[in-house]
Amino acid sequence: MYTIIPLLLAHIQELNKQILFLFKFIVKNIPLNLEKSKDDSLFSPKYNKLKVDKLPLIKVPEKKDYKQLLEIYLKEHDKPLKPIKSRGRNPVPDDVHCPCCNAPHNYIYDNTGGRGQFLCKVCDTHFNRQNYIDNPPELCCPHCGKALVIKKKRKLFNIHKCVNPNCSYYQSSLKALSKEQLEEYSSNPEKFKLHYIYREFKINFFKIDLYSLPKNASSLQFRKFSPHVMGLCLTYLVNCGLSTRKTRDVLREVHGIKISHTQIANYATTAAYCVKPFVDSYDYKPTNYLAADETYTKVKGSRRYVWFIMDAIKKSILGYRSSDSRDTTPCILAMRMAFDKFKKFPGKALKFVADGYTAYKLAQQQFALHGMHFDVTQVIGLTNEDDVSTEYRWLKQIIERLNRTFKFSYKVTNRLWL
Ligand SMILES: [Zn+2]
Ligand SMILES: [Zn+2]
Repeated sequence: MYTIIPLLLAHIQELNKQILFLFKFIVKNIPLNLEKSKDDSLFSPKYNKLKVDKLPLIKVPEKKDYKQLLEIYLKEHDKPLKPIKSRGRNPVPDDVHCPCCNAPHNYIYDNTGGRGQFLCKVCDTHFNRQNYIDNPPELCCPHCGKALVIKKKRKLFNIHKCVNPNCSYYQSSLKALSKEQLEEYSSNPEKFKLHYIYREFKINFFKIDLYSLPKNASSLQFRKFSPHVMGLCLTYLVNCGLSTRKTRDVLREVHGIKISHTQIANYATTAAYCVKPFVDSYDYKPTNYLAADETYTKVKGSRRYVWFIMDAIKKSILGYRSSDSRDTTPCILAMRMAFDKFKKFPGKALKFVADGYTAYKLAQQQFALHGMHFDVTQVIGLTNEDDVSTEYRWLKQIIERLNRTFKFSYKVTNRLWL
């Protein structure tokens, strides 16, 4: 009975070796069928949802000149277009002018009785005091030039879609489908992403304050214990990596101090808040090699995502963020925080390495709209099969190791930090 177990184990190991051998054989000798898709994507169209498209073309409405328009009016009607006589309690302020034809305030109607919506008498443009251009520039498909249609309005973004059936993007995604996929597409079209889509973000990621503290940061007023006790708590908890409960036990048994594990947790939180401003404003002098990664961990039973952006050479963490969703917002904020550490943004000299997740590409688009252009290198494969992965894998591995360390110590210290 006892001799069979080592025998079976040896057998399993032998089988395992064979599987590995066969697996390597497949990887080396049987090429992936990539030629089929003409698009440069590594994914089947079924997974196009994970891919980011090119930015749309932006057609800015043509600028007009109100003087010319007034002349045309005079020729057509044989009388000039009269300015508006301001009556009522809300005359249009002197500095308001038409964003489209530049007509001065005496040609502008107040449409909403002082609430900021105006109408130009010369060119019929409606506009708003806050965002001077009421009709936003038209978004067009970069593949066929047709105007995009708003398909979904979400809280954080709108989805614009190219619905042109002759669009080259749509046609080539259709062609890339296999027979079975085509059948599935006709019955469940929502599972596929074959049309060009663009996500327009509504929040201004570039105005959100990065460094604000949560309002519940506790004070450092000691009633029951002294700073010395707090120091002991932090030493055991952080330096020795004990859990809050073990720290409590050590304090009681070694130091004779009775303190609850929640109080220890509170000390740790307070210390974290005190350290945060120093961590955030330190002059890191970052190199141009940044690696980004996201991971998730459980906080009080619910999933939270943690984003890190790290200087891969100096090993300093330049940007971080925790969030309850794995979308672009926290990603952009972490990236902004990291880029903030540069005295001068390196632009195209920056080596920004991330995994294949779309958020980084979407974030890159947002930065590009704000004049910050840089390349994102996505290391997708698990092994060094392509040149990109071979060149940049080491960067990725560094941050993945950081994430593992973080997750480990986070679990041990009873999830204090987020
Ligand atoms: Zn006008
Ligand atoms: Zn199109």
